[in-house]
Order: sequence, then C-alpha cells, then structure tokens
Amino acid sequence: MKEVILLKNGEIALKGLNRRTFEDMLVKNTRRRLNSLCNWQFHIAQSTVTAIPDEEIDMDEAVEICSKVFGFVALSKALSVEKDMDIIREQTGEYLKDELLAAKTFKVNARRSDKKFPLTSPEICMEMGGVILSAFPHLSVDVHNPDVIVNIEVRDNSAFIHGNQIKGAGGMPIGSAGKAAILISGGIDSPVAAWMMAKRGLQLEAIHFASPPYTSERAEKKVYDLLKKVAAYSGRIRLHVVPFTRIQEEIKDKCPEELFTILMRRYMMRISERIAADNDCGALITGESVGQVASQTLYALACTDSVVSMPVFRPLIGMDKNEVITVSRKIDTFDISVLPFEDCCTVFTPKHPRTKPKAYYVEQAENLLDSDALIDEAIASVRTLMING
Ligand code: ATP
Ligand code: MG
Repeated sequence: MKEVILLKNGEIALKGLNRRTFEDMLVKNTRRRLNSLCNWQFHIAQSTVTAIPDEEIDMDEAVEICSKVFGFVALSKALSVEKDMDIIREQTGEYLKDELLAAKTFKVNARRSDKKFPLTSPEICMEMGGVILSAFPHLSVDVHNPDVIVNIEVRDNSAFIHGNQIKGAGGMPIGSAGKAAILISGGIDSPVAAWMMAKRGLQLEAIHFASPPYTSERAEKKVYDLLKKVAAYSGRIRLHVVPFTRIQEEIKDKCPEELFTILMRRYMMRISERIAADNDCGALITGESVGQVASQTLYALACTDSVVSMPVFRPLIGMDKNEVITVSRKIDTFDISVLPFEDCCTVFTPKHPRTKPKAYYVEQAENLLDSDALIDEAIASVRTLMING
C-alpha cells in the first residue's frame, strides 16, 4: 500500500505514432520538477502517468508541483493497493475519510482495465456505494453533481483509490514544440505571453533589455522574479540580459524623437533574433496586442517585424488588457508586474510617437547610426543567468 500521484494526459493521447515520444518527454519534465522532493518511479499506461515516490514526503506539495506541468489535464493523489476487493472495501473509507466527512453527496466511479478482476465496474460501484453509505450515514448518493467522486481504478499492476481530481495545467509537454525566445520586460503582458507559448510545448529562452543607470538593478530583479513564476510551469529558463543604454542614447542623440520607440523596438528585434538563433530558437515571442500603445498599431508592428526573418509569435494579439490580467493573476505574476520599477522603454518614451511610421523615414533615421557596430557591441556584453523551475 502506498500513496502515489495519478496524472492524466491531455492532448498527447491523440498523437498517434508520436505518442510514446510525447509521453517520455512528459515523464522527463515531471521527474525533473519532482526530484527536488525525492526520487520517483514512473509508470505509463492508458493515458495515465503514475508517479511513485521513493520516500515518504509531503504529497500535497508534490501535487502542487505537478499541477504546473504542461501536458496533464487532471491529477490526484491516490492510494495504490493490492487488487483485492476486501482491501479496497477496507481502505477506501479510511483513505478518503476527510473528504467524505466534509461532503454531503458522493458517487462512485469504477474503472476496470484488468478484465480478470472478479467484479465488473458496475458491480464495484454498487458494492462500494453500499460500503460508503454504511460507514458515512450522513452522505447520500448524487450521480449528477456529487461533492465527492470516489474513484476505484483496477489497473494491470495495482488498484487505485482516489477522490476528486484537480485540474492540470493542460497544454503540451515542454520541449515538444521546440524552443523560442521571449522578449521580457517587467510589465504585465510579456510574462503572460511566455506562459501561453510554454503551454503549447515551447521551451523558453528569455531576453531582457536593460539600460543602466536609467534602469536599476531592482528592475532586473523584477524580471528575474517574474521568470521564476513562469519557470514553475515551463521548467528552467536561461535569461540573457542585453545592455541597451548605448543604443538608446545614440537614438536619442541622432534620430527624430517621434521615432524613438519604433527604432528601439527594431533594434530589440534584431538583437533578439541573433541571440535566439545562437540558442537554437525557432521563433521570437512578444507580449504585444493590437492597439495597446503607439508601437502596437498594425503599421508599427509591420515595421518592427520587417527587420527579422524569424517568425514572431504574439499570443496576446487579440486579447483585452483585462483578459491578460486574469491570466497574470492565475500564474501569480500580476503582483510582481505592478511593482513600480522603470523599464528601458518608459525611460525614453517620446511625447508624440509616430503611429504610422513610414519605412523610408525609419530607415533614413537608422542610417544615421552605425547599426552593425552597436548591435555587435550589445551582443558582446550580454550576461546570461539560469532560472530554475
Ligand atoms: P509589457 O506589459 O510586457 O511590458 P507593454 O504593454 O508594456 O508590455 P511595450 O512596453 O510596448 O508593451 O512592450 C511590448 C513588448 O516588447 C513586451 O511585451 C515585450 O515582449 C517587449 N519588451 C518591451 N520592453 C522590453 C525590455 N526591456 N526587454 C525585453 N523585451 C521588452
Ligand atoms: Mg513594457
């Protein structure tokens, strides 16, 4: 008898011939995350991963960690017992005592993948319904909307008893979709964009532009703290901090003020594409959405995109700020994002930014700068930090 965690696969159950590869990734990601607690063994069968700890540990903490692993749609602690109806009868009420005492209604769900087990699924339900009703006389059965679902799963190696499942993080296993680089500021949007693309299976590399002394160390710490929250879902993230002061000062000295933002963004994109390519990333990710600020009009977005050839993913493109905030609260980045530290963009914001920048006009302004040298210099001074999940 042992307490384990049962994790139900989501979309990867549909992946046909690739399913094994996806499942292996899922197990690898889960193991990496859970290893901070103890060593684990994993079994995969029938779209369920069973995680078995080698020691007695805090299983609630383990469930919390697993609820942030992309690829699972539902999970729960479960008691693994011998496939013996007497033991199941004896242990179910005991194992689920707290949940059943707190409930008013319940139902039993039984699944039997071992067809040699003497009782069928409906028979297990009947039997266990009676056992629970006599041990917890305050309960009644509600098959449509029960407070607690008592699950009895008779599988090949063992039987499992568990109560209500919690929702998993959904999505696809990290790494299954390759790698992309998130341009991360200290704001609300970019951590949400990072989380959304990680959810689709992308491993993240992060790039932050810092402009000391206009931006402080605390602003950089904020980015680190935000990524730490994202990494709880995405696994480890490498953060590349790019010194941006020189480029911003050059733009400020030599170019028309109304183009500051768009020029800054074009340099960010060029530098990011180089860093991304050096780190095997196939795309860039930003937290932009149409119409949010002057640099996020269709014209401005086209103007920033035109300096890179890598695809640029903008998962927030059609979202309202309120919708983004809802996600940022859910992933616990909101409170950090609203801390009042300056960002390199706000420091050099023009009073009247161009919303319809003309390509010719922008290129003419850039010709006033030694772009290649400035970009090389910035890339040569990048600092890289590792943020563990
Ligand atoms: P956020 O809330 O993420 O800061 P925002 O709405 O404030 O976004 P902008 O400041 O215009 O928008 O930035 C748009 C996007 O550009 C950000 O979502 C982010 O992807 C990227 N970005 C902005 N500033 C930086 C920075 N200092 N370093 C890296 N990327 C940045
Ligand atoms: Mg910002």
